[in-house]
Amino acid sequence: MPADWTVRACAKCRGELQRGLLLCDECLPSGAARQDATVRVGHTRSVTMRLLAGARMPRGRREVQVTATVELNRERGREELRVQVYDYRDRSYSEAWYDETGEITWSKAGALDDPSIHGPTR
Ligand SMILES: [Zn+2]
Repeated sequence: MPADWTVRACAKCRGELQRGLLLCDECLPSGAARQDATVRVGHTRSVTMRLLAGARMPRGRREVQVTATVELNRERGREELRVQVYDYRDRSYSEAWYDETGEITWSKAGALDDPSIHGPTR
């Protein structure tokens, strides 16, 4: 497993990334951003990173919440980086999986209000 993933495309719009972030400048709200890195130890050790950006929202949310997790993708039989974007500005949900080269291997997007697309809202 590589020590880090260099994501090459924005997890929301799939546009080109310039600064090695998870979201491009257009998708990331300006203003204070906070990053939390937490280590979750399950049956595989994985690292979860959360990025909270933009204005504060009710229930402790921020306008944009991004979660990045290294997970085993059973379909492709390898670990990939899964990035989930909860955007409360346009109420959209975007998810992208990246291989170790940083290319998107799979992605989907839909309405945040449609629980079938992302599971429980965080
Ligand atoms: Zn973008």
